[in-house]
Formats: sequence, C-alpha cells, structure tokens
Amino acid sequence: MAFQNADALFSAKASLLKPSAIGEIHKLLETPGMRSLAGAWPDPAVFQSQEISDIIVNLLADSEGHALQYGSTRGYLELRQVLAELMGKNDDIQCSPEQILITTGSAQGLDLACRIFLDPGDLVLVGLPSYFGATGTIASHQAINVGIPVDEDGIQTDLMEAKLAELQKTGKAVKAVYVIPNFQNPAGVTLTLDRRQKLLRLADKYQFMIFEDDPYGELRFDGQRLPSLMALDETNCVVHFRSASKTFSPGMRIAWNVGPADVIAKMELAKQVSDIATNTLSQFVLLEMIRSGIFYKGIEKNREHYRQKRDLALELLQKHFPAQVTWTRPSGGFFIFVRLPEELDADELLMDALKNKIAFVSGPSFFVDGSGKNTFRLSFSQASPEDIKAAIPSLAELIKKRLTTKNR
Ligand code: PMP
Repeated sequence: MAFQNADALFSAKASLLKPSAIGEIHKLLETPGMRSLAGAWPDPAVFQSQEISDIIVNLLADSEGHALQYGSTRGYLELRQVLAELMGKNDDIQCSPEQILITTGSAQGLDLACRIFLDPGDLVLVGLPSYFGATGTIASHQAINVGIPVDEDGIQTDLMEAKLAELQKTGKAVKAVYVIPNFQNPAGVTLTLDRRQKLLRLADKYQFMIFEDDPYGELRFDGQRLPSLMALDETNCVVHFRSASKTFSPGMRIAWNVGPADVIAKMELAKQVSDIATNTLSQFVLLEMIRSGIFYKGIEKNREHYRQKRDLALELLQKHFPAQVTWTRPSGGFFIFVRLPEELDADELLMDALKNKIAFVSGPSFFVDGSGKNTFRLSFSQASPEDIKAAIPSLAELIKKRLTTKNR
C-alpha cells in the first residue's frame, strides 16, 4: 500500500513555507505570447555563452577532473583570493579570503545568515516594499519581518530610528536589518550616503546586524557609485551578500558573502550541513572569467544593454501613463516601481493585463504588512524592446479605463 499520510508528519516549520509570487511569475512566463515585465531574470541576450563554453571545454580537459570534484565548504581558495583583491580594488572593501564564503546564490547566503543569527520570534527590519525571496527566507526561520517604509532615497532611517526606540520601550530588540542599498528590488531606489551612515550609527546604538544584499550594484547606468555599508562599517556589524546571478548567470548559482571572520566561519558550519559545498565547475568558470577579464567585459555590456531598456521604458511611461500615476526612476538594476492612485487596485489591473497577455508583479507581495495594493513592479530586464513598446501603452490604456470606471 502506498504511504498516504506525509501531510500529518510535516514539521511546524514546514507550515511557514508559503508559495511566493516567484512561482506564479514563472507559470505566467510560460504562456505563449505573454509580454512579461514580471520576472527579475537577466536577459539571455547578454549571456556570454561562447566564452563560457570555451572555458568549460578547457576545464574538463584537465585529466585530474578537479572541476568535477567536491570542493571545500568555504569555497575555492583561489577564487576567494581573487574576489578579496577585487573587492579591495573596486569596492574599497578590505577583506581577507577568510572573510569570504562562496554560496549557491546569495539566496543561500541569506538563508545561512538567518540560520546563525535568528531564533523564533526575533525581529528583522525590512523595507516596505522589499524583495519577497528575502522576507520569505526570514519568515521561514520563524523570525518576524517588521516593515519600514521606503521612499526615493531608500529605506527611511528616521522612521527606522523611531521604530527601534518604540520597540526598545516594549522590551523587544531587533536582531537584524535587511537592506538592498542599490537599485532596490522592487522599488529601483538607491539608499543615499547619509542614510547609509545613519543606518550604521543605528546598528551601533541598537546592536543589530545589517544584512546588505547587493546583487544589482554593478549594474549602475548613471550617477556616482556610493560606498557600500560594508566599506563604511567600522564596527563589524555588516554581512555583505554579492551575487554573480545578474551579471554572469543565475543558472550557475554562484555568489559570495563577505563578513567578519567569526560570522563567516559560523555560516560555513551552517553550509556544511546544508549542501557541503558550492558547485565546483561554476567556481572554476567564474575564476577564469575574472582572470581573463571576460567577467568585467560582460558587466560593461550588461550596463549598456539594460540602460537602453530602462531609457525606453521610462520614455514610454512618461508618454503614455496618466498624470495621476507616479513611478521611480532607477539609476541601475532591473526595476521600476509604479504607484497608482489610491482608489485603484494593482491585482485588478493585473487581471485586465493578463487577459491582454501582459504581466507584471502586483505590489502587495513585496509588503510584509499587506499594504501596497495600489502599487506594482515593472521589470525591464528580460523583456525585448518590442515587448516594452507594446506593453507600456496597452497598460496605460487599461489604467485609464479603470480610472474612468472608478470615477464614474
Ligand atoms: N536578492 C535580491 C534583491 C534579488 O533580487 C535576488 C534575485 N531575484 C536574490 C537576492 C537572489 O539571487 P541569487 O540568484 O544570487 O540567489
């Protein structure tokens, strides 16, 4: 007889695992003819497939088969050395290879950090809105996401300070703040230098960790690059998550995490019981890409590619969207965040849009307090220029229709 009762045996923790908007988006992308401004996937047009293929052929010719072997949990030492040098040169982050842990995407990095810092009931401050993958990870560790509003200058550190003081009065301490400082997912906004400094002062005063998630920082199209929280930190309170997913390949699942040596050592222990080690072949490929300069050539190409799409999307929004609608103007990354008049509901608009084969992500899944009903995220990364040109004017028409119905 087949076993039928796994349901009854699930752990309490398993009930915290909820389907996210990510799964729904992937289903939508498979619909033929869908013009999708939904996913946060890189454009395959900028993948360096031939270069990667040449590197892999060479790696596999190695008679000792190193690239197919297990590696160390911490990650391949030569790769960590090169990354430490790069971080020093490009990001003003002075770190040793001992302060770097290679992981299966930065999603795993965050999961490990949560595992070593968070107990059930611990509080973590996150942006309103914030990337649902991260808030889902935090919730899966039985910690509580507390939302702090985000504006054009990133997470609002004044409101954060007020919240910290209020929580302290009730005897509740915050363990960590999760922040995406550059071209935030989903809002597209960048945390100002003043707010970065203020956030670090708050971390010192209230003694919490900062989880600095920065997968989009390399994709700056204009304006000046700002120092990371990790570069500004003088108190060892930052864990910095970097990913090669948006610049090299998300399928290769490779990221690196930088932090104080004792924190990285603990994360390494957590990784050991999770997946032993990161994919060796991916690590070897990334190392070779960096050494040969192909990696940075790719980033340059990416910047130009996505800058053109951002410009196109912003131009069309300006031309077609009604005056009552506002949106962010990102200096990099993949996202534009749209705010509809209060009386409109982005879920309803999405229903109209899907009937017209246009997809985006409705706002509420990014708001841990369930707000954001009149907001949505547009991603210009994977859509072709033709899709962007067709989708934005149609979306504008659908919004206008909803506005006239509501105001009738
Ligand atoms: N953080 C943010 C803000 C993201 O947008 C994403 C991917 N959508 C991730 C982390 C996960 O990236 P990775 O592929 O490195 O796990």
